[in-house]
Amino acid sequence: MNPFSYVAPTDAVEALAALGDHESNGMALGAAKFIAGGTNLLDLMKENVMRPARLIDINGLPYERIEETASGGLMLGALARNADTAYHPAVRSRYPLLSAAILAGASPQLRNMATNGGNLLQRTRCYYFYDSTVPCNKREPGTGCSAIGGLSRQHAILGASEHCIATHPSDMCVALAALGAIVHVQSPSSSRQIPFADFHRLPGDRPDQDTHLAFDELITHVELPEARGFAGHSVYLKIRERASYAFALVSVAAALELAEDGSIRQARLALGGVAHKPWRDTEVEQALMGAMPSEPVFAKAADALLRTAHGQGANDFKIPLAHRAIVRALSLAVQGTVTNTGERLNGEESV
Ligand SMILES: Cc1cc2nc3c(=O)[nH]c(=O)nc-3n(C[C@H](O)[C@H](O)[C@H](O)COP(=O)(O)OP(=O)(O)OC[C@H]3O[C@@H](n4cnc5c(N)ncnc54)[C@H](O)[C@@H]3O)c2cc1C
Ligand code: SF4
Repeated sequence: MNPFSYVAPTDAVEALAALGDHESNGMALGAAKFIAGGTNLLDLMKENVMRPARLIDINGLPYERIEETASGGLMLGALARNADTAYHPAVRSRYPLLSAAILAGASPQLRNMATNGGNLLQRTRCYYFYDSTVPCNKREPGTGCSAIGGLSRQHAILGASEHCIATHPSDMCVALAALGAIVHVQSPSSSRQIPFADFHRLPGDRPDQDTHLAFDELITHVELPEARGFAGHSVYLKIRERASYAFALVSVAAALELAEDGSIRQARLALGGVAHKPWRDTEVEQALMGAMPSEPVFAKAADALLRTAHGQGANDFKIPLAHRAIVRALSLAVQGTVTNTGERLNGEESV
């Protein structure tokens, strides 16, 4: 690990000011970095992939709470721990999709440490990104992509570019995408809100940039809009190499609001493990509206969501796997929410 300085501010102004000296570095390896739970950043520092000259410990900032919003939603503090978020009574009852997605990830120890803000900014698990002896455009722009033509079993089937085929590893983010969350951020001069769909980016010719967050912006909160009718029919289905403690090969966040006649009033559908960002297509969701749930209807939605899917050979299997997972997740959602403890809510609202 390289030498670095350490500061522990107690408010956002101080934390953002601590970036100042390093502003000219921008995205450079030596740029100052916020550290929250440290479960990803410290690993990357130990592997020499990230080399911040200064760590700004933000754990003393007042963003650890989960609070009601005036519009009937929830405001998740960026420093609330993943475990506290998943087990919060309001999240479990009104956003069981989010709770289940968080608990499908990592291990209890990691979830106790990891924060909501850090989860959004965790970096890809591409093997080559962690190996600083091989070319990687995300780690060192312009060096090439070792995954193209290399080991690509875990890599993207949607939205990839000739410069990078990495996937975003988060489970939590797939549910946040489906729920239409909003990311609240603060810079030294202003604050802004970023719709979740615009937060992460596709690799294009700048795979070194995972998100649209500026280097001098701090995530303060993640807002969940009002829950609508999704709580009773939502499922997070994660397909992975082993039953726990593994990243998704493919995951599906599916949430349905059903009308009294059983037809679909609203649908939400997002995929994880398949692209550089959680993959959601609102046109596919709109096409489900008004339909009576059935396997052929869900298969058509899967066809549409995967219409541009393209494999690298070793990960071609992800395309039919994602198709079957979408149909299965939507079919399970019709029957009722599967909670984070595996309980079936039989279509009743869990509130
Ligand atoms: C062995 C292992 C298995 C895992 N398995 C899974 C899994 O199956 N599914 C899954 O989803 N995740 C998994 N994870 C990843 C884990 O969820 C993330 O490491 C964690 O969420 C990161 O949060 P953190 O607070 O520790 O972030 P940190 O490591 O502290 O920070 C990560 C990045 O976010 C930045 N940052 C943090 N907070 C803020 C903020 N408020 N504003 C601006 N920038 C900020 C930091 O500068 C850093 O660049 C696994 C991790 C490990 C080590
Ligand atoms: S897929 Fe992306 S992260 Fe992986 S080696 Fe290629 S450029 Fe690097």
